[in-house]
Amino acid sequence: MRMSQLLAPTLRETPGEAEIVSHQLMLRAGLLRKTAAGMYTYLPLGWRVLQKIMNIVREEMDNKGGQELLMPIVQPAELWRETGRWTEYGDEMFRLKDRHGREFCLGPTHEELITALVRAEVRSYRQLPLLLYQIANKYRDEIRPRFGVMRGREFIMKDLYSFDRDEAGLDESYAKMYDAYTRAFQRMGLDVRAVEADPGAIGGNVTHEFMVLAEAGEAAVVHCPQCAYAANTEKAECVPPPPGDEPDKPVPAAERVATPSVRTIDELTRFLGVPADRLLKTLIYEADGEPVAAVVRGDHELNEVKLKRALGATSVAMASAAVIERVTGAPVGFAGPAGLSGVRIVADPWAARVRDGVAGANAADEHLIHVEPGRDWQADVIADIRTAAPGDPCPRCGAPLAAARGIEVGQIFKLGTKYSEVLGATYLDERGESHPVVMGCYGIGISRTMAAIIEQHHDENGIRWPVSVAPYHVVIVPVKYEDERQRQAAEQLYRELSAAGVETVLDDRPERAGVKFKDADLIGFPLRITVGPRALAEGSVELKSRDGSYDERVALPETAGAAKAWLEAAIPRP
Ligand code: ATP
Ligand code: MG
Repeated sequence: MRMSQLLAPTLRETPGEAEIVSHQLMLRAGLLRKTAAGMYTYLPLGWRVLQKIMNIVREEMDNKGGQELLMPIVQPAELWRETGRWTEYGDEMFRLKDRHGREFCLGPTHEELITALVRAEVRSYRQLPLLLYQIANKYRDEIRPRFGVMRGREFIMKDLYSFDRDEAGLDESYAKMYDAYTRAFQRMGLDVRAVEADPGAIGGNVTHEFMVLAEAGEAAVVHCPQCAYAANTEKAECVPPPPGDEPDKPVPAAERVATPSVRTIDELTRFLGVPADRLLKTLIYEADGEPVAAVVRGDHELNEVKLKRALGATSVAMASAAVIERVTGAPVGFAGPAGLSGVRIVADPWAARVRDGVAGANAADEHLIHVEPGRDWQADVIADIRTAAPGDPCPRCGAPLAAARGIEVGQIFKLGTKYSEVLGATYLDERGESHPVVMGCYGIGISRTMAAIIEQHHDENGIRWPVSVAPYHVVIVPVKYEDERQRQAAEQLYRELSAAGVETVLDDRPERAGVKFKDADLIGFPLRITVGPRALAEGSVELKSRDGSYDERVALPETAGAAKAWLEAAIPRP
Protein backbone atom coordinates (compact mmCIF):
# COMPACT_ATOMS: atom_id res chain seq x y z
CA MET A 1 0.00 0.00 0.00
CA ARG A 2 1.18 3.48 -0.85
CA MET A 3 0.79 6.02 1.90
CA SER A 4 -0.28 8.62 -0.68
CA GLN A 5 -3.34 6.45 -1.42
CA LEU A 6 -4.11 5.18 2.07
CA LEU A 7 -7.12 6.70 3.86
CA ALA A 8 -5.36 7.17 7.19
CA PRO A 9 -6.23 10.70 8.31
CA THR A 10 -3.78 11.22 11.16
CA LEU A 11 -4.25 14.07 13.61
CA ARG A 12 -1.52 16.04 15.40
CA GLU A 13 -3.81 17.31 18.13
CA THR A 14 -5.52 15.11 20.68
CA PRO A 15 -9.30 15.32 20.10
CA GLY A 16 -11.06 16.75 23.14
CA GLU A 17 -13.81 14.10 23.08
CA ALA A 18 -11.35 11.29 23.90
CA GLU A 19 -10.61 10.67 27.57
CA ILE A 20 -8.42 7.60 27.49
CA VAL A 21 -5.22 6.88 25.59
CA SER A 22 -6.58 4.13 23.34
CA HIS A 23 -9.48 6.29 22.17
CA GLN A 24 -7.18 9.26 21.58
CA LEU A 25 -4.70 7.18 19.62
CA MET A 26 -7.35 5.43 17.55
CA LEU A 27 -8.66 8.80 16.42
CA ARG A 28 -5.20 10.33 15.97
CA ALA A 29 -3.80 7.38 14.02
CA GLY A 30 -6.81 7.42 11.71
CA LEU A 31 -8.16 4.00 12.71
CA LEU A 32 -11.76 5.09 13.16
CA ARG A 33 -14.22 7.94 13.23
CA LYS A 34 -17.36 8.42 15.28
CA THR A 35 -20.70 8.17 13.48
CA ALA A 36 -23.02 8.55 16.48
CA ALA A 37 -22.65 8.05 20.24
CA GLY A 38 -21.11 4.60 20.65
CA MET A 39 -21.13 3.86 16.90
CA TYR A 40 -17.98 3.96 14.83
CA THR A 41 -16.80 3.67 11.26
CA TYR A 42 -13.63 1.63 11.10
CA LEU A 43 -11.22 3.13 8.58
CA PRO A 44 -8.92 0.85 6.57
CA LEU A 45 -6.15 0.64 9.18
CA GLY A 46 -8.58 -0.02 12.03
CA TRP A 47 -10.45 -2.63 10.05
CA ARG A 48 -7.21 -4.45 9.23
CA VAL A 49 -6.39 -4.67 12.93
CA LEU A 50 -9.87 -5.94 13.72
CA GLN A 51 -9.59 -8.60 11.04
CA LYS A 52 -6.30 -9.79 12.50
CA ILE A 53 -7.87 -10.03 15.93
CA MET A 54 -10.84 -11.90 14.47
CA ASN A 55 -8.57 -14.31 12.61
CA ILE A 56 -6.60 -15.17 15.73
CA VAL A 57 -9.84 -15.75 17.62
CA ARG A 58 -11.24 -17.79 14.73
CA GLU A 59 -8.15 -20.01 14.62
CA GLU A 60 -8.29 -20.69 18.33
CA MET A 61 -12.02 -21.47 18.21
CA ASP A 62 -11.51 -23.79 15.23
CA ASN A 63 -8.61 -25.50 17.02
CA LYS A 64 -11.00 -26.54 19.75
CA GLY A 65 -13.55 -27.87 17.28
CA GLY A 66 -15.65 -24.72 17.03
CA GLN A 67 -17.82 -24.36 13.93
CA GLU A 68 -18.46 -20.88 12.61
CA LEU A 69 -21.90 -19.79 11.47
CA LEU A 70 -23.71 -16.49 11.18
CA MET A 71 -27.01 -15.54 12.76
CA PRO A 72 -29.15 -12.51 11.97
CA ILE A 73 -28.68 -9.34 13.95
CA VAL A 74 -32.43 -8.68 13.85
CA GLN A 75 -34.17 -11.14 16.15
CA PRO A 76 -37.90 -11.80 16.62
CA ALA A 77 -39.42 -10.76 19.94
CA GLU A 78 -41.28 -14.09 20.34
CA LEU A 79 -38.08 -15.97 21.13
CA TRP A 80 -37.12 -13.47 23.78
CA ARG A 81 -40.60 -13.69 25.26
CA GLU A 82 -40.13 -17.44 25.61
CA THR A 83 -37.17 -16.90 27.96
CA GLY A 84 -38.67 -13.86 29.64
CA ARG A 85 -35.77 -11.69 28.56
CA TRP A 86 -37.88 -9.44 26.28
CA THR A 87 -38.88 -7.51 29.41
CA GLU A 88 -35.91 -8.45 31.61
CA TYR A 89 -33.37 -6.94 29.24
CA GLY A 90 -34.89 -3.50 29.70
CA ASP A 91 -33.69 -0.29 28.10
CA GLU A 92 -30.38 -1.72 26.96
CA MET A 93 -32.20 -3.49 24.15
CA PHE A 94 -32.69 -1.72 20.82
CA ARG A 95 -36.22 -2.55 19.67
CA LEU A 96 -37.92 -2.10 16.32
CA LYS A 97 -41.04 -3.07 14.39
CA ASP A 98 -41.48 -4.23 10.84
CA ARG A 99 -44.16 -2.85 8.49
CA HIS A 100 -46.69 -5.32 9.87
CA GLY A 101 -46.12 -4.14 13.41
CA ARG A 102 -44.22 -7.28 14.44
CA GLU A 103 -41.61 -6.67 17.12
CA PHE A 104 -37.89 -7.33 16.79
CA CYS A 105 -34.70 -6.39 18.56
CA LEU A 106 -31.14 -5.81 17.46
CA GLY A 107 -29.37 -8.73 19.10
CA PRO A 108 -27.49 -7.78 22.26
CA THR A 109 -26.46 -11.46 22.56
CA HIS A 110 -27.62 -14.69 20.90
CA GLU A 111 -28.54 -17.36 23.49
CA GLU A 112 -32.18 -17.38 22.39
CA LEU A 113 -31.46 -17.70 18.68
CA ILE A 114 -28.81 -20.38 18.92
CA THR A 115 -30.79 -22.45 21.40
CA ALA A 116 -33.79 -22.31 19.07
CA LEU A 117 -31.53 -23.52 16.27
CA VAL A 118 -30.30 -26.44 18.32
CA ARG A 119 -33.85 -27.21 19.43
CA ALA A 120 -34.80 -27.57 15.78
CA GLU A 121 -31.71 -29.37 14.47
CA VAL A 122 -30.27 -31.53 17.23
CA ARG A 123 -32.05 -34.77 18.11
CA SER A 124 -29.51 -37.26 19.34
CA TYR A 125 -26.60 -37.58 21.74
CA ARG A 126 -24.58 -38.52 18.67
CA GLN A 127 -24.67 -34.90 17.53
CA LEU A 128 -23.12 -33.70 20.80
CA PRO A 129 -20.89 -32.01 21.89
CA LEU A 130 -21.39 -29.05 19.62
CA LEU A 131 -19.43 -25.80 19.67
CA LEU A 132 -21.03 -23.13 17.49
CA TYR A 133 -19.82 -19.57 17.12
CA GLN A 134 -20.09 -16.42 15.11
CA ILE A 135 -18.27 -13.12 14.86
CA ALA A 136 -20.76 -10.32 14.36
CA ASN A 137 -22.10 -6.97 15.50
CA LYS A 138 -23.94 -6.71 18.78
CA TYR A 139 -26.23 -3.89 19.86
CA ARG A 140 -26.65 -2.62 23.40
CA ASP A 141 -28.10 0.78 24.14
CA GLU A 142 -25.61 1.43 26.97
CA ILE A 143 -26.59 4.24 29.36
CA ARG A 144 -23.13 5.67 29.09
CA PRO A 145 -21.33 4.73 25.89
CA ARG A 146 -17.78 5.96 26.38
CA PHE A 147 -14.09 5.54 25.85
CA GLY A 148 -14.61 4.99 22.11
CA VAL A 149 -15.03 1.35 21.17
CA MET A 150 -14.36 0.30 24.75
CA ARG A 151 -18.04 0.73 25.56
CA GLY A 152 -19.92 1.14 22.33
CA ARG A 153 -23.60 0.72 21.50
CA GLU A 154 -22.67 -1.22 18.38
CA PHE A 155 -19.65 -3.48 18.79
CA ILE A 156 -18.15 -6.64 17.36
CA MET A 157 -18.29 -9.79 19.46
CA LYS A 158 -17.24 -13.35 18.97
CA ASP A 159 -19.84 -15.46 20.72
CA LEU A 160 -19.51 -19.21 21.02
CA TYR A 161 -22.11 -21.52 22.55
CA SER A 162 -21.36 -25.05 23.72
CA PHE A 163 -23.91 -27.85 23.83
CA ASP A 164 -23.17 -31.00 25.83
CA ARG A 165 -25.08 -33.95 27.17
CA ASP A 166 -24.12 -33.45 30.79
CA GLU A 167 -22.17 -31.39 33.33
CA ALA A 168 -18.98 -33.36 32.71
CA GLY A 169 -19.21 -32.47 29.02
CA LEU A 170 -19.79 -28.84 29.90
CA ASP A 171 -16.73 -28.86 32.17
CA GLU A 172 -14.69 -30.09 29.21
CA SER A 173 -16.05 -27.48 26.80
CA TYR A 174 -15.47 -24.79 29.41
CA ALA A 175 -11.87 -25.89 29.92
CA LYS A 176 -11.33 -25.86 26.15
CA MET A 177 -12.60 -22.31 25.87
CA TYR A 178 -10.59 -21.18 28.90
CA ASP A 179 -7.50 -22.47 27.14
CA ALA A 180 -8.47 -21.03 23.75
CA TYR A 181 -9.04 -17.60 25.31
CA THR A 182 -5.72 -17.70 27.12
CA ARG A 183 -3.92 -18.58 23.88
CA ALA A 184 -5.79 -16.06 21.73
CA PHE A 185 -5.05 -13.13 24.03
CA GLN A 186 -1.40 -14.14 24.39
CA ARG A 187 -1.06 -14.26 20.61
CA MET A 188 -2.30 -10.67 20.48
CA GLY A 189 0.42 -9.64 22.90
CA LEU A 190 -2.05 -9.04 25.71
CA ASP A 191 -1.26 -9.61 29.33
CA VAL A 192 -4.60 -10.94 30.65
CA ARG A 193 -5.80 -12.49 33.87
CA ALA A 194 -8.76 -14.80 34.14
CA VAL A 195 -10.70 -13.69 37.19
CA GLU A 196 -13.66 -15.23 38.97
CA ALA A 197 -16.76 -13.16 38.42
CA ASP A 198 -20.43 -12.83 39.27
CA PRO A 199 -22.75 -14.47 36.71
CA GLY A 200 -25.32 -11.66 37.04
CA ALA A 201 -28.45 -11.80 34.90
CA ILE A 202 -27.11 -14.14 32.25
CA GLY A 203 -27.52 -17.10 34.59
CA GLY A 204 -25.44 -20.11 35.53
CA ASN A 205 -23.05 -20.28 38.42
CA VAL A 206 -19.46 -20.50 37.19
CA THR A 207 -17.94 -17.71 35.18
CA HIS A 208 -14.56 -16.15 34.47
CA GLU A 209 -13.80 -12.77 33.04
CA PHE A 210 -10.63 -12.22 31.05
CA MET A 211 -9.19 -8.94 32.23
CA VAL A 212 -6.51 -6.82 30.67
CA LEU A 213 -4.93 -5.08 33.61
CA ALA A 214 -4.84 -1.39 32.72
CA GLU A 215 -5.53 1.91 34.46
CA ALA A 216 -8.32 2.72 32.00
CA GLY A 217 -10.23 -0.41 33.00
CA GLU A 218 -13.77 0.02 34.28
CA ALA A 219 -13.67 -3.12 36.42
CA ALA A 220 -11.97 -3.48 39.80
CA VAL A 221 -10.15 -6.71 40.49
CA VAL A 222 -8.14 -8.13 43.35
CA HIS A 223 -5.40 -10.66 42.80
CA CYS A 224 -3.07 -12.59 44.99
CA PRO A 225 0.66 -12.02 44.49
CA GLN A 226 1.34 -15.43 46.11
CA CYS A 227 -1.08 -17.82 44.43
CA ALA A 228 -3.19 -17.76 41.25
CA TYR A 229 -6.34 -16.35 42.89
CA ALA A 230 -7.88 -13.39 41.08
CA ALA A 231 -11.45 -12.13 41.14
CA ASN A 232 -13.65 -9.22 40.21
CA THR A 233 -14.26 -7.29 43.44
CA GLU A 234 -17.99 -7.88 42.84
CA LYS A 235 -17.27 -11.54 43.35
CA ALA A 236 -14.06 -11.79 45.43
CA GLU A 237 -14.77 -13.68 48.61
CA CYS A 238 -13.91 -11.94 51.84
CA VAL A 239 -12.71 -14.45 54.40
CA PRO A 240 -14.48 -14.32 57.78
CA PRO A 241 -12.88 -11.97 60.27
CA PRO A 242 -10.37 -13.29 62.79
CA PRO A 243 -11.83 -13.93 66.28
CA GLY A 244 -11.83 -10.83 68.48
CA ASP A 245 -8.94 -10.68 70.95
CA GLU A 246 -10.99 -9.62 73.99
CA PRO A 247 -14.01 -11.91 74.13
CA ASP A 248 -14.80 -11.01 77.76
CA LYS A 249 -14.08 -7.32 77.52
CA PRO A 250 -16.68 -5.45 79.60
CA VAL A 251 -18.48 -2.86 77.51
CA PRO A 252 -20.54 -0.13 79.17
CA ALA A 253 -24.20 0.25 78.28
CA ALA A 254 -24.92 1.88 74.94
CA GLU A 255 -25.17 5.62 75.22
CA ARG A 256 -26.60 8.34 72.99
CA VAL A 257 -24.27 11.17 72.02
CA ALA A 258 -25.12 14.35 70.16
CA THR A 259 -23.51 14.46 66.74
CA PRO A 260 -25.04 17.53 65.13
CA SER A 261 -24.86 17.34 61.31
CA VAL A 262 -22.22 14.60 61.53
CA ARG A 263 -23.30 12.13 58.87
CA THR A 264 -20.39 10.63 57.00
CA ILE A 265 -17.88 8.09 58.26
CA ASP A 266 -15.07 10.63 57.87
CA GLU A 267 -16.91 13.29 59.84
CA LEU A 268 -17.78 10.78 62.50
CA THR A 269 -14.25 9.45 63.00
CA ARG A 270 -13.00 13.01 63.36
CA PHE A 271 -15.84 14.14 65.63
CA LEU A 272 -15.73 11.18 68.01
CA GLY A 273 -12.06 10.30 67.64
CA VAL A 274 -13.00 6.67 66.92
CA PRO A 275 -11.31 4.70 64.13
CA ALA A 276 -13.45 3.76 61.13
CA ASP A 277 -13.21 0.04 61.90
CA ARG A 278 -15.28 0.61 65.07
CA LEU A 279 -18.14 2.21 63.17
CA LEU A 280 -21.20 0.39 61.87
CA LYS A 281 -22.11 1.84 58.49
CA THR A 282 -25.83 1.23 57.98
CA LEU A 283 -27.31 1.71 54.54
CA ILE A 284 -30.99 1.43 53.75
CA TYR A 285 -31.75 -0.37 50.51
CA GLU A 286 -34.82 -1.58 48.72
CA ALA A 287 -34.59 -5.18 47.59
CA ASP A 288 -37.38 -5.97 45.13
CA GLY A 289 -39.23 -3.05 46.69
CA GLU A 290 -38.84 -4.17 50.31
CA PRO A 291 -36.60 -2.04 52.57
CA VAL A 292 -33.57 -3.70 54.18
CA ALA A 293 -30.76 -2.36 56.33
CA ALA A 294 -27.28 -3.39 55.20
CA VAL A 295 -24.54 -3.07 57.80
CA VAL A 296 -20.81 -3.01 57.00
CA ARG A 297 -17.84 -1.84 59.01
CA GLY A 298 -17.03 1.87 58.61
CA ASP A 299 -13.80 1.19 56.74
CA HIS A 300 -15.48 -1.23 54.30
CA GLU A 301 -17.55 -0.67 51.17
CA LEU A 302 -20.93 -2.29 50.70
CA ASN A 303 -21.14 -4.31 47.50
CA GLU A 304 -24.53 -4.18 45.80
CA VAL A 305 -23.92 -7.26 43.68
CA LYS A 306 -23.13 -9.33 46.77
CA LEU A 307 -26.08 -7.82 48.64
CA LYS A 308 -28.36 -8.80 45.80
CA ARG A 309 -26.99 -12.33 45.85
CA ALA A 310 -27.21 -12.61 49.64
CA LEU A 311 -30.88 -11.62 49.54
CA GLY A 312 -31.69 -13.63 46.44
CA ALA A 313 -33.23 -10.45 45.05
CA THR A 314 -33.66 -9.55 41.39
CA SER A 315 -32.97 -5.87 42.03
CA VAL A 316 -31.50 -3.80 44.83
CA ALA A 317 -31.33 -0.04 44.93
CA MET A 318 -30.51 2.60 47.51
CA ALA A 319 -33.69 3.70 49.23
CA SER A 320 -34.91 7.24 48.69
CA ALA A 321 -34.61 9.83 51.47
CA ALA A 322 -38.34 9.50 52.10
CA VAL A 323 -38.12 5.73 52.58
CA ILE A 324 -35.07 6.09 54.84
CA GLU A 325 -36.91 8.58 57.03
CA ARG A 326 -39.93 6.30 57.23
CA VAL A 327 -37.82 3.24 58.10
CA THR A 328 -35.40 4.81 60.59
CA GLY A 329 -37.47 7.72 61.87
CA ALA A 330 -34.48 9.95 61.22
CA PRO A 331 -33.06 11.95 58.33
CA VAL A 332 -30.45 10.37 56.06
CA GLY A 333 -27.13 9.77 57.82
CA PHE A 334 -28.29 8.56 61.23
CA ALA A 335 -29.35 4.97 60.60
CA GLY A 336 -28.04 2.23 62.85
CA PRO A 337 -28.91 -1.41 63.54
CA ALA A 338 -29.62 -0.99 67.26
CA GLY A 339 -33.30 -0.41 67.90
CA LEU A 340 -34.19 -0.63 64.23
CA SER A 341 -37.43 -2.53 63.76
CA GLY A 342 -39.64 -3.49 60.88
CA VAL A 343 -36.80 -4.11 58.41
CA ARG A 344 -34.55 -7.03 57.77
CA ILE A 345 -30.98 -6.40 58.89
CA VAL A 346 -28.26 -7.89 56.72
CA ALA A 347 -24.81 -7.61 58.26
CA ASP A 348 -21.39 -8.34 56.95
CA PRO A 349 -19.53 -10.79 59.25
CA TRP A 350 -16.83 -8.21 59.88
CA ALA A 351 -19.48 -5.70 61.03
CA ALA A 352 -21.22 -8.32 63.15
CA ARG A 353 -17.91 -8.72 65.04
CA VAL A 354 -17.44 -5.07 65.93
CA ARG A 355 -17.42 -4.69 69.70
CA ASP A 356 -17.92 -1.43 71.56
CA GLY A 357 -18.93 0.11 68.28
CA VAL A 358 -20.52 3.33 67.11
CA ALA A 359 -23.72 3.43 65.11
CA GLY A 360 -26.43 5.84 64.07
CA ALA A 361 -29.13 6.18 66.76
CA ASN A 362 -32.05 6.38 64.29
CA ALA A 363 -32.63 9.90 65.56
CA ALA A 364 -31.62 13.23 64.03
CA ASP A 365 -28.14 14.38 65.06
CA GLU A 366 -27.52 11.44 67.37
CA HIS A 367 -25.27 8.39 67.43
CA LEU A 368 -24.91 5.52 69.85
CA ILE A 369 -21.58 4.57 71.38
CA HIS A 370 -20.66 1.33 73.20
CA VAL A 371 -22.81 -0.67 70.80
CA GLU A 372 -22.47 -4.42 71.31
CA PRO A 373 -23.48 -7.12 68.86
CA GLY A 374 -25.92 -9.62 70.37
CA ARG A 375 -26.72 -7.27 73.21
CA ASP A 376 -27.80 -4.13 71.33
CA TRP A 377 -28.51 -5.48 67.89
CA GLN A 378 -28.95 -8.69 66.00
CA ALA A 379 -28.63 -9.36 62.29
CA ASP A 380 -31.34 -11.34 60.49
CA VAL A 381 -28.83 -12.40 57.89
CA ILE A 382 -25.05 -12.48 58.18
CA ALA A 383 -23.45 -12.63 54.75
CA ASP A 384 -20.40 -11.47 52.86
CA ILE A 385 -21.70 -8.19 51.47
CA ARG A 386 -18.62 -6.03 51.34
CA THR A 387 -16.24 -5.31 48.50
CA ALA A 388 -12.87 -6.98 48.77
CA ALA A 389 -10.11 -4.45 49.22
CA PRO A 390 -6.34 -4.49 48.78
CA GLY A 391 -4.66 -5.93 51.85
CA ASP A 392 -7.55 -8.30 52.59
CA PRO A 393 -6.37 -11.88 53.10
CA CYS A 394 -6.48 -14.06 49.97
CA PRO A 395 -9.35 -16.57 50.36
CA ARG A 396 -7.07 -19.32 49.03
CA CYS A 397 -3.70 -18.76 50.70
CA GLY A 398 -4.13 -15.88 53.14
CA ALA A 399 -1.51 -13.56 51.62
CA PRO A 400 -2.57 -9.91 51.34
CA LEU A 401 -4.47 -9.23 48.10
CA ALA A 402 -3.39 -6.57 45.61
CA ALA A 403 -5.84 -4.40 43.68
CA ALA A 404 -5.88 -3.51 39.99
CA ARG A 405 -8.15 -2.08 37.31
CA GLY A 406 -9.16 -4.33 34.47
CA ILE A 407 -10.67 -4.13 30.99
CA GLU A 408 -13.00 -7.08 30.49
CA VAL A 409 -12.11 -8.38 27.01
CA GLY A 410 -13.92 -11.68 27.34
CA GLN A 411 -16.15 -13.72 29.58
CA ILE A 412 -17.05 -17.39 29.72
CA PHE A 413 -20.09 -18.86 31.49
CA LYS A 414 -21.40 -22.25 32.47
CA LEU A 415 -25.09 -21.78 31.75
CA GLY A 416 -26.27 -25.29 32.49
CA THR A 417 -29.84 -25.89 31.33
CA LYS A 418 -31.22 -22.40 31.97
CA TYR A 419 -31.96 -21.73 28.28
CA SER A 420 -32.38 -25.28 26.98
CA GLU A 421 -35.11 -26.03 29.55
CA VAL A 422 -37.30 -23.00 28.85
CA LEU A 423 -36.80 -23.25 25.11
CA GLY A 424 -37.11 -27.03 25.03
CA ALA A 425 -33.76 -27.86 23.43
CA THR A 426 -33.44 -31.54 24.21
CA TYR A 427 -31.64 -34.62 22.93
CA LEU A 428 -32.31 -38.35 23.18
CA ASP A 429 -29.72 -40.53 24.92
CA GLU A 430 -28.76 -44.14 24.08
CA ARG A 431 -31.89 -45.43 25.78
CA GLY A 432 -34.14 -43.03 23.96
CA GLU A 433 -34.63 -40.81 27.03
CA SER A 434 -34.95 -37.08 26.53
CA HIS A 435 -32.73 -34.56 28.37
CA PRO A 436 -32.17 -30.82 28.07
CA VAL A 437 -28.79 -30.00 26.50
CA VAL A 438 -26.24 -28.51 28.89
CA MET A 439 -24.93 -25.17 27.68
CA GLY A 440 -22.09 -22.73 28.04
CA CYS A 441 -21.55 -19.34 26.42
CA TYR A 442 -18.32 -17.59 25.67
CA GLY A 443 -17.85 -14.00 24.44
CA ILE A 444 -14.92 -11.94 23.28
CA GLY A 445 -15.33 -8.23 22.64
CA ILE A 446 -13.35 -7.93 19.41
CA SER A 447 -13.54 -4.15 19.12
CA ARG A 448 -12.92 -3.64 22.83
CA THR A 449 -9.89 -5.90 22.52
CA MET A 450 -8.40 -3.57 19.91
CA ALA A 451 -8.65 -0.72 22.43
CA ALA A 452 -7.19 -2.88 25.21
CA ILE A 453 -4.18 -3.78 23.07
CA ILE A 454 -3.45 -0.08 22.58
CA GLU A 455 -3.81 0.55 26.32
CA GLN A 456 -1.03 -1.98 26.88
CA HIS A 457 1.07 -1.10 23.83
CA HIS A 458 1.77 2.58 23.33
CA ASP A 459 4.21 5.33 24.24
CA GLU A 460 4.13 9.12 24.07
CA ASN A 461 4.56 9.02 20.27
CA GLY A 462 1.78 6.61 19.44
CA ILE A 463 0.79 2.98 19.15
CA ARG A 464 3.27 0.09 19.29
CA TRP A 465 1.34 -2.77 17.67
CA PRO A 466 2.38 -6.31 18.44
CA VAL A 467 3.33 -7.85 15.07
CA SER A 468 0.40 -10.29 15.19
CA VAL A 469 -2.25 -7.56 15.06
CA ALA A 470 -0.44 -4.67 13.34
CA PRO A 471 -2.36 -3.18 10.40
CA TYR A 472 0.83 -3.49 8.32
CA HIS A 473 4.17 -4.92 9.37
CA VAL A 474 6.62 -2.55 7.74
CA VAL A 475 6.70 1.07 6.67
CA ILE A 476 9.37 2.16 4.21
CA VAL A 477 10.24 5.80 4.69
CA PRO A 478 12.44 7.38 2.04
CA VAL A 479 13.79 10.57 3.63
CA LYS A 480 13.18 12.31 0.31
CA TYR A 481 10.98 10.34 -2.07
CA GLU A 482 11.62 12.85 -4.87
CA ASP A 483 15.31 11.92 -4.85
CA GLU A 484 15.88 9.53 -7.76
CA ARG A 485 18.21 7.09 -5.94
CA GLN A 486 16.14 6.98 -2.77
CA ARG A 487 12.99 6.45 -4.73
CA GLN A 488 14.47 3.60 -6.72
CA ALA A 489 15.83 1.86 -3.62
CA ALA A 490 12.52 2.32 -1.76
CA GLU A 491 10.44 1.05 -4.69
CA GLN A 492 12.74 -1.93 -5.10
CA LEU A 493 12.41 -2.82 -1.40
CA TYR A 494 8.66 -2.34 -1.56
CA ARG A 495 8.42 -4.83 -4.44
CA GLU A 496 10.68 -7.37 -2.70
CA LEU A 497 8.89 -7.19 0.65
CA SER A 498 5.45 -7.37 -0.91
CA ALA A 499 6.53 -10.36 -3.01
CA ALA A 500 7.82 -12.02 0.18
CA GLY A 501 4.38 -11.65 1.75
CA VAL A 502 5.37 -8.88 4.15
CA GLU A 503 2.54 -6.36 4.61
CA THR A 504 4.28 -3.15 3.65
CA VAL A 505 3.40 0.51 3.34
CA LEU A 506 5.61 2.75 1.23
CA ASP A 507 5.50 6.36 2.37
CA ASP A 508 5.70 7.96 -1.06
CA ARG A 509 4.29 11.32 0.03
CA PRO A 510 6.12 14.52 -0.81
CA GLU A 511 6.34 15.31 2.92
CA ARG A 512 9.25 16.27 5.16
CA ALA A 513 11.00 13.33 6.77
CA GLY A 514 9.88 14.53 10.22
CA VAL A 515 6.22 14.36 9.25
CA LYS A 516 6.62 10.84 7.87
CA PHE A 517 8.47 9.61 10.97
CA LYS A 518 5.80 11.09 13.23
CA ASP A 519 3.02 9.33 11.32
CA ALA A 520 4.95 6.06 11.30
CA ASP A 521 5.31 6.23 15.09
CA LEU A 522 1.71 7.30 15.61
CA ILE A 523 0.27 4.50 13.47
CA GLY A 524 2.72 2.14 15.10
CA PHE A 525 4.11 -0.07 12.32
CA PRO A 526 6.29 -2.63 14.12
CA LEU A 527 9.24 -2.10 11.75
CA ARG A 528 10.45 1.00 9.92
CA ILE A 529 12.92 0.95 7.07
CA THR A 530 14.50 4.34 6.48
CA VAL A 531 16.03 4.99 3.11
CA GLY A 532 18.34 7.97 3.65
CA PRO A 533 21.11 9.53 1.60
CA ARG A 534 24.03 8.67 3.88
CA ALA A 535 23.37 4.97 4.42
CA LEU A 536 22.34 4.62 0.82
CA ALA A 537 25.72 5.99 -0.32
CA GLU A 538 27.13 2.84 1.30
CA GLY A 539 24.41 0.67 -0.18
CA SER A 540 22.46 0.16 3.02
CA VAL A 541 19.28 1.24 4.82
CA GLU A 542 18.25 1.55 8.50
CA LEU A 543 15.91 -0.96 10.12
CA LYS A 544 14.34 0.11 13.37
CA SER A 545 11.64 -1.57 15.41
CA ARG A 546 8.90 0.58 16.90
CA ASP A 547 9.63 -0.78 20.37
CA GLY A 548 13.29 0.28 20.09
CA SER A 549 14.65 -3.21 20.71
CA TYR A 550 16.14 -3.52 17.20
CA ASP A 551 18.08 -0.85 15.33
CA GLU A 552 20.47 -1.93 12.55
CA ARG A 553 21.99 -0.87 9.29
CA VAL A 554 21.48 -3.56 6.69
CA ALA A 555 22.85 -3.84 3.15
CA LEU A 556 20.15 -3.39 0.53
CA PRO A 557 20.20 -6.92 -0.90
CA GLU A 558 19.78 -8.40 2.60
CA THR A 559 17.07 -6.03 3.78
CA ALA A 560 13.95 -7.98 2.84
CA GLY A 561 15.36 -11.14 4.41
CA ALA A 562 16.38 -9.33 7.60
CA ALA A 563 12.98 -7.67 7.90
CA LYS A 564 11.19 -10.94 7.41
CA ALA A 565 13.35 -12.72 9.96
CA TRP A 566 12.88 -9.98 12.55
CA LEU A 567 9.10 -9.98 12.10
CA GLU A 568 8.90 -13.74 12.32
CA ALA A 569 10.83 -13.75 15.59
CA ALA A 570 8.75 -10.90 17.03
CA ILE A 571 5.34 -12.59 16.72
CA PRO A 572 4.02 -13.24 20.24
CA ARG A 573 3.65 -16.98 20.83
CA PRO A 574 1.88 -18.68 23.70
P1 ATP B 1 -19.57 -5.10 30.63
O1 ATP B 1 -19.61 -5.67 32.02
O2 ATP B 1 -18.26 -4.48 30.28
O3 ATP B 1 -20.75 -4.25 30.29
P2 ATP B 1 -20.77 -7.51 29.78
O4 ATP B 1 -20.39 -8.36 30.92
O5 ATP B 1 -22.12 -6.95 29.71
O6 ATP B 1 -19.70 -6.34 29.64
P3 ATP B 1 -20.78 -9.80 28.00
O7 ATP B 1 -22.22 -9.96 27.86
O8 ATP B 1 -20.02 -10.71 28.88
O9 ATP B 1 -20.45 -8.26 28.41
O10 ATP B 1 -20.14 -9.72 26.54
C1 ATP B 1 -18.95 -10.37 26.14
C2 ATP B 1 -17.85 -9.36 25.81
O11 ATP B 1 -18.32 -8.35 24.92
C3 ATP B 1 -17.36 -8.61 27.00
O12 ATP B 1 -16.40 -9.36 27.71
C4 ATP B 1 -16.77 -7.37 26.36
O13 ATP B 1 -15.43 -7.62 25.94
C5 ATP B 1 -17.63 -7.14 25.16
N1 ATP B 1 -18.58 -6.05 25.38
C6 ATP B 1 -19.68 -6.06 26.15
N2 ATP B 1 -20.32 -4.88 26.10
C7 ATP B 1 -19.60 -4.09 25.26
C8 ATP B 1 -19.75 -2.75 24.78
N3 ATP B 1 -20.77 -2.00 25.16
N4 ATP B 1 -18.82 -2.27 23.92
C9 ATP B 1 -17.77 -3.04 23.53
N5 ATP B 1 -17.59 -4.30 23.94
C10 ATP B 1 -18.48 -4.83 24.80
MG1 MG C 1 -19.28 -9.84 30.89
